Amino acid sequence: MNCPVCFQPVDVLQVKSSYTEAVCLGCGHFQISSALRSCLDRRQFATRPTRQRLQERRQKTALPLLGINDEDLLIPK
Ligand SMILES: [Zn+2]
Repeated sequence: MNCPVCFQPVDVLQVKSSYTEAVCLGCGHFQISSALRSCLDRRQFATRPTRQRLQERRQKTALPLLGINDEDLLIPK
């Protein structure tokens, strides 16, 4: 799989029904919810703001989650 945030190849650690956990060289270790992933058929992440949000969350948790509330980071493909 490619990183949903920056589109580079990514290490997928876990795929669960509700989320996917991945490590990307550029974006770090994060989880993305399946609900948000399903939005990526038609839209994609704006890379820089998404990385910034992950970085902010990392100050509170080692493993930040991109969830459906982060839909505002998506732009048209
Ligand atoms: Zn990435």
